[in-house]
Amino acid sequence: MSDCIFCKIAHGDIPSKKIYEDEEIFAFHDINPIAPVHFMIVPKLHVGSLMDVDMSHQMLLGRILAKANDLAKSQGLNEGFRTIINTGRIGHQEVYHLHVHILGGPEPLVIVLVIVMLVFGTKKLRNMGSDLGGAVKGFKDGMKEASSDKPAEKSVEPQQVTGQTIDVEARREQTKS
Ligand code: 5GP
Ligand code: ZN
Repeated sequence: MSDCIFCKIAHGDIPSKKIYEDEEIFAFHDINPIAPVHFMIVPKLHVGSLMDVDMSHQMLLGRILAKANDLAKSQGLNEGFRTIINTGRIGHQEVYHLHVHILGGPEPLVIVLVIVMLVFGTKKLRNMGSDLGGAVKGFKDGMKEASSDKPAEKSVEPQQVTGQTIDVEARREQTKS
C-alpha cells in the first residue's frame, strides 16, 4: 500500500533499525519505545489489522508468533516478554498495518531505583523512606481526626529534651545565687 508507513519501512523507503528480515516478515525497533526493549514483528504483505485477518493468513500469523521467541532472545529477553497486538480504534491501533509488539527488559521503576541509589546512596534513601513514613502517619492521624465526632487524641510528639535540660540548668543557677 503506497501511503502505509510499515510498507515503506518494508521496502526500505523509510529507515528503521531492523533486527530481522526474511521473505515474508521483518522486525524492527519501535521509534517510541515504551520498554527498554521494544520491537515489532510485521508481515511484508499489507494486512490492515487483525480485523482483516481470515484463515488464509494462518501461516503468516503462525510465522510471526513462531519467530517471537528467537528474536526476543536475540535482544536479550531471556526471562520473558510481553506481546501486544492493538486492533482498530477501540484497540488504540495507530498504524494500520498488522504488527505484533514485543516488549521486555528491566522494569523502568527498578532502573530509577538503582539510579537513585547510585546518586544518593542507601543511607539517604532510608532517610527519605522514614520521612515518607512520618508524612503518611500524619496524614492518617489527620484523616482519623476529621472523620470522628469527638476530637482525636493528639499524637504525642517527642519532647524537646535539649530545651528542658537548659531550663532545669537555668533554675538550678537561680536557686544557687
Ligand atoms: P500501534 O498503536 O499501531 O500498535 O503502534 C504503532 C507503533 O509504531 C507505535 O508504537 C509507534 O511508535 C511505531 N511507529 C510509528 N511510526 C514509526 C516509524 O516511522 N518507525 C518506527 N520504527 N516505528 C514507528
Ligand atoms: Zn502496509
